[in-house]
Amino acid sequence: MSKRLKITIINLIFISCLISIYFFVYVPNKKTNDRVITIIQNKKSTIVAINYPHTPYQILNKDIKKYVNDIYDDFKEEYDSFISLKGKSELNIDYTYYVSEEGYISITLYTYIDSSLMNHPIKEIKTFVFDPQKKSYLTLQDLIKEKKKTTDEILEILRKKYGEGGYQNLLTSEYLKSLSYSIDHEKVCIFIPSYQNQENPYLIYLPLNHFHLNKKKEIKNIPVYSIKQNVIDPKKKVVALTFDDGPSKYTKKILKLLRKYHVTATFFVLGNKVTMYENTLKEMLQDGHEIGNHSYNHKLMSTLTEKEIMNQIQQTQSIIKEKLGYTPTSMRPTYGSVNQKIRNIVNMNIVLWNVDTLDWKLKDPKRIAQRGMKVKDGDIILMHDSKARTEKALSIMIPKLLKENYQFVTVGELEEVKMLREKFE
Ligand code: ZN
Repeated sequence: MSKRLKITIINLIFISCLISIYFFVYVPNKKTNDRVITIIQNKKSTIVAINYPHTPYQILNKDIKKYVNDIYDDFKEEYDSFISLKGKSELNIDYTYYVSEEGYISITLYTYIDSSLMNHPIKEIKTFVFDPQKKSYLTLQDLIKEKKKTTDEILEILRKKYGEGGYQNLLTSEYLKSLSYSIDHEKVCIFIPSYQNQENPYLIYLPLNHFHLNKKKEIKNIPVYSIKQNVIDPKKKVVALTFDDGPSKYTKKILKLLRKYHVTATFFVLGNKVTMYENTLKEMLQDGHEIGNHSYNHKLMSTLTEKEIMNQIQQTQSIIKEKLGYTPTSMRPTYGSVNQKIRNIVNMNIVLWNVDTLDWKLKDPKRIAQRGMKVKDGDIILMHDSKARTEKALSIMIPKLLKENYQFVTVGELEEVKMLREKFE
């Protein structure tokens, strides 16, 4: 064989290796189509906040959607016509989403139902662990490396908790197959159901090295943003656009429109959407918008305990800080419902609104825009970047308000303008 031919063959082998490495290593980790489906409703007798992920995989989406819809339908049937003086019934569905080093998708859905009809809120957990390459679900049994060793370890934990007996005979491979579990970057969490599901499941945590799972390589790169400063004349009229419940698949379009008119706004985001929309949030900061805190999963905050309120705020603050290196200073309570307890706990600028565009209710962008254009100096406009029509309404509102010489400010800037005006009056 000539030397040249040899080199060519070696090259070919090398290139085909690269190609196969690309397909086997990178393709399963691709999650370009991922987004979050959000349903937020405030009705006469019920409030509903549902967030669940939409993945690039049909089978998985179909099963998640069916699970969520069944709960939602049952809730509506049971509580929509139940009007109580003690307050509205609430349904909240939240999720966690993780893609392992191997490309396995682990989704956990948390359902919470509270109503004055019940003594305690209902809490339910549902997990999905999906292998995108095989297009099928993985049971705990599929992932355990050394069956006997790990089973013994689980038994030991259960023995410490419940004493002898009970579980000993249960830990068969069938039982292991039936157990719900979830994966995250450092552990596998196993949900041991209580007797007849009367209490919350007991959680067992085991390290990743017990399973066919590799630790994910951490890519730490917290960006340093040169956040754009807007030049504002405090003597001229100002108005603040605010968007709740996002980000969503519509947010990028709204950002594009705002960029076109050099307009800045404030986005009150949900903590549980931050990971999925990291890039959208980065775009917001680069364009000089403000990001505010709108709780972690849109529970009605005014009915929560102090600790729960704290968690809703802190979880959102830390995920934004972790992903974006940015710390929000403004907070908007869910459903605009605020009480003294929230004011005492939340050490942030609590922002409500004066102008509700009703974009969550009105279907016609023109009617939404009409409401949004009825503003006066210093007003805060409420909109939602979780609806397609909002962008259309904005394309009518913004040029009109610019013509009327309004300056668009973030809620933080609005506070500054107010302070400056007081100083010089
Ligand atoms: Zn909201």
